[in-house]
Amino acid sequence: MIFYSTKTSSHKAKLEEAIFRSLPPDNGLYMPEHIPSLSQAFLDDIQNKTFKEIAIEVTHTLLSDDLTRQEVVEIIDLAYDFEAPTQRISEDVYVLELFHGPSMAFKDFGARFMAALMSYFLKRNNKELNILVATSGDTGGAVAQGFFDVPGISVTILYPSGKVSDIQEKQLTTLGHNVQALEVDGTFDDCQKLVKEAFLDQELNERFNLASANSINIARLIPQSFYYFAAYAQLKQLGKPIVFAVPSGNFGNLSAGLLAFRMGLPAAHFVAATNKNNAVPRYLESGTYNPLPSIETISNAMDVGNPSNFVRLTRFFQEDLNLIREKVSGYYFDDSQTRDAMRELNDALEYIACPHTAVAYLGLEAYRKESNSDFVGVFLSTAHPAKFIDLVEQTLGKSIEVPERLQKLLSLPKTATKLSSDFISFKDLLISTLSKK
Ligand SMILES: *Cc1c(COP(=O)(O)O)cnc(C)c1O
Repeated sequence: MIFYSTKTSSHKAKLEEAIFRSLPPDNGLYMPEHIPSLSQAFLDDIQNKTFKEIAIEVTHTLLSDDLTRQEVVEIIDLAYDFEAPTQRISEDVYVLELFHGPSMAFKDFGARFMAALMSYFLKRNNKELNILVATSGDTGGAVAQGFFDVPGISVTILYPSGKVSDIQEKQLTTLGHNVQALEVDGTFDDCQKLVKEAFLDQELNERFNLASANSINIARLIPQSFYYFAAYAQLKQLGKPIVFAVPSGNFGNLSAGLLAFRMGLPAAHFVAATNKNNAVPRYLESGTYNPLPSIETISNAMDVGNPSNFVRLTRFFQEDLNLIREKVSGYYFDDSQTRDAMRELNDALEYIACPHTAVAYLGLEAYRKESNSDFVGVFLSTAHPAKFIDLVEQTLGKSIEVPERLQKLLSLPKTATKLSSDFISFKDLLISTLSKK
């Protein structure tokens, strides 16, 4: 597959270059030049396919120039020992649970695939690699788990001090080995800026092999399309149009849904649901993209003022606002609405949702009201509620079960290096800790 840069469409890259560079040299984003469709025969029979079979078919369809079918099978086998089940919530309302992976958040889907794909290429070339990643909470855990002890790869994770949950912090700071955690005195946007600057820094790039694991990496985007197809496979027999509501921060998840749509997923509509960091819903309303500094909310993994995948979102529709509006509706909600939705889901529908998931549910219901049409709605559950246990218990007024995997984590000691948000100290630290080329 050939990728182009959203800034300079004449800059092209093959898969291997795109995943290891992460960002094109002009600071744009990689986009597939041509998006092939899944075969009609596969879509007609998709209800009989397993998650892995779907993942293999999607990957093979996209990357047949780069990997043989057998290589794809090996990568998918290595990446996934978990699935994406749907659960019925009420009539025509389903939740797509994306938290059954090792870090119990949907980012496992992207991180595991990327780790498997990168280690496949590294083995081929016998190279050392340093992954840099900024996290608003769940990326770090998923990336740490995905790359933990992968030979030849070190991982440096930046997270905003005091702005991630206890469990999230433990997922970043307790692995050790090839995973180092940096606790930044700043916001997620500050962390993201430091990482972006490092990738553009000539000296760092001369001395080290750097790669990103943020949702800007195309190797994270591709696998997130799998579960949209998997949800369709599970709900197809209901015979109704399907609408996906996606709780959004950096908009990698929604972009992956649009990639699936471009590959032939029969999705009727997408709902972009955000908290008060609402640059995209405001853009859909006004036609003007006006990002603002990020605001803290209870759905903190979505506290992104300037979503890094915004440009991709528009490129899936040739930057035509009317085409985007036909397929994507945006809604945003404040913390008190989010808490009400968590209580409603718990009391009336017996479903315990994390705050991000509750925002998606709100988005789905808002769209149902506004569109007044008959469809099956699927809201994406992006994290297990126990990852936000204090907030969930306090909101619902009851204690909830903590899976054993998370319980064990909480008893482990934290190891993190404190860092200010200026680039020079970050660069110095990288120079003293990374493995040279
Ligand atoms: C990262 C994250 C999101 C936002 O996903 P994007 O792809 O950045 O839009 C939503 N919910 C949870 C729990 C997350 O970790």
